[in-house]
Amino acid sequence: MMENFHTHLPYCKHASGSAEDYIREAERLGFSALGFSDHSPAPAYMHDVQGYKMAEAQMPLYRDEVRKAAHLSSIPIYLGMEVDVIQEEASYLHEVIMPIMHPDFLIGSVHFIRLNAGRHIGLHEIETSQLFDRYMEQLLWGIEQSDFLFIGHPDRVMITDYVQKHDKQLRSAWRTIAQFAKKHRKPLEYNTSINAGMSPCVSPVLWEEILKEGVSIVVTSDAHAPERLGLGLSDGYEWLRTRQANIVYCSQLLAKKE
Ligand SMILES: [Zn+2]
Ligand SMILES: [Zn+2]
Repeated sequence: MMENFHTHLPYCKHASGSAEDYIREAERLGFSALGFSDHSPAPAYMHDVQGYKMAEAQMPLYRDEVRKAAHLSSIPIYLGMEVDVIQEEASYLHEVIMPIMHPDFLIGSVHFIRLNAGRHIGLHEIETSQLFDRYMEQLLWGIEQSDFLFIGHPDRVMITDYVQKHDKQLRSAWRTIAQFAKKHRKPLEYNTSINAGMSPCVSPVLWEEILKEGVSIVVTSDAHAPERLGLGLSDGYEWLRTRQANIVYCSQLLAKKE
């Protein structure tokens, strides 16, 4: 069984393809379900993160494109969003996004660190232990939130040299993430667009801790183009299966919620 609940449309300004293109590709690949999860909008005052997010006014267009395309699909289609895990965005999520979107699911991901002055920096700018601590604070907060069906790419923080260099020394932090996810029964994502071609994966120590703890794992390709929908998925599933990972499927998690 294969499915993918992490896909992006051009509303976020850095993806391509239409909902229908993704559905045709999902059918071709033999998926049993497909979820859309484009980057959610952010409050206007967060001007430094707008560049990679959809505009607030585009939410109805995105929603309607997915819901309409779903009628032409032979497999179940789910409408979702990838939301930034930033405490200050939580009220915006509940007051602005949810009433318009009525999404089937949300992914919670950390792409930015919020600094005290209300400024945001990308994960690639985490170059000190203080900034890494701030990252951890946001991620752990995200794991606690019941809004998110799963947590996106907990290993994307490896894009920074600082974290890459300290993978081993950060073992206790990785263990905390794994134990926290287990405690809150929050699946973590094995993102094949990050881990594809990495041997065995981008953060061996983090994944050792996640697997040891038996955390639920969702596999996705984080596709930003229809032709990348299936990228690395079979390898990802296989890598996890040979390690007796606790793989879960979003369609089943959602069926249980109903
Ligand atoms: Zn993206
Ligand atoms: Zn992401």
